[in-house]
Order: sequence, then structure tokens, then C-alpha cells
Amino acid sequence: MQLTPERLAELRRRLEEAHGDMGALARWAEEHGDELLETALDLDRRLAYYEPDMYIKRCSACHGRGRREYPDTSTWRGGGYAGQAITVDICDRCWGTGDEGRPGTDLRALIADLSLMTEQQRRLQHLRRLTNDALDAAEAAGIEDAVNWGDLSCVEAALVLTDEGRSYYWVIIEEASPDAYKLGVYVRDWLAKRGWTDVEVLTEW
Ligand SMILES: [Zn+2]
Repeated sequence: MQLTPERLAELRRRLEEAHGDMGALARWAEEHGDELLETALDLDRRLAYYEPDMYIKRCSACHGRGRREYPDTSTWRGGGYAGQAITVDICDRCWGTGDEGRPGTDLRALIADLSLMTEQQRRLQHLRRLTNDALDAAEAAGIEDAVNWGDLSCVEAALVLTDEGRSYYWVIIEEASPDAYKLGVYVRDWLAKRGWTDVEVLTEW
């Protein structure tokens, strides 16, 4: 049902006619309650479509525009090698939606997560190099085990997160028997001396 000024005036007139007369009001509600509810819902849909202030928390940083001015070219990233020019970019309070109540994707948090992953990957690459250093020195250290010394190498270092929230590292060494216990202990000790105290060593052919 379309909400026109005529419809509104009619509803108002009926309500006024029934004013103070509870019996008349009850009859009116019986006859026109559904119609009034439908009209109110229609109005609600229209208001939601036009997004007035009552439906959104208009962003106080960008006034609902979704983008704003920053004092330098690094904009929401902040600092770094930035040029000294006022620059428009996505608003870092509502992240583009203009609505503080329903912000968009927090790009700063996203980038922080990615940086953390990159940092962890670097640490794992370092762990793999350390493990290979240990293997290079193993034969000279007198380790006797079921090992192909020619091709022995660490092929993977991983950070493991368990379903119970425990985390540890593992390294996979190829060209060694799964039973190469002495080699495993040697590598674990080597890594522990260099600060890596929670590494599991897996060996395989
Ligand atoms: Zn904003």
C-alpha cells in the first residue's frame, strides 16, 4: 500500500473520530489495524532505503562520506615514506561505509595480520637454515645413524598450532630413516642451544 498524504490524513481522521471512545477504538483496530501495520512497515522500508540518521551511526570522522582527507600521502597507513601533501583516501574509522555502526574491512588490521604471517614465515626460513647447518656438521660431530649423508637435508620447517591451543615447531629431514633417533636428538639439541626449544624433528627417506 502506498503511503500518500491522503492516506495519512484519512488514518489520522479515523483515529481522531475514535478518540476517547475505547469501544470505537477497539472496532477501529479490528477493522484497520492490519492496514495501519502494513503502512508502518512500508514507511520503515522506505526509511531504511534512504538511510536517514536514525538507521545509521553516521561516521564522525568523515561525516558519512566514506573517505576523508589525511595530512600526508601515507593516509590511513600512517608515517613511513610519506609526501607532505593533503591526500584523500578511505576513512579509517568507518572503512568506507560511512556508518560507524557497520564499518567495512579494517585494512590496517588486515595488513598487520599479513605482516605477522610474513614475519613468522621468515622465522621458519631461519629455522630451516639452522637445521641444515646442524645437518652439515652432523657427520663431523660423530653422529652414527641410518642416514644418506650425501643428500641429507631439511625440506620443511613448520609452525604447528594444535586444536588445544598448543603451538610448536617441526622440521622434516629427508634422506634419513624414520628411526634415526640419534640424529633427531642431535638436531634437537643443536636447535635448543640456539633458542629453539620446542622443535620436533621428523626424519624420512
Ligand atoms: Zn568514516
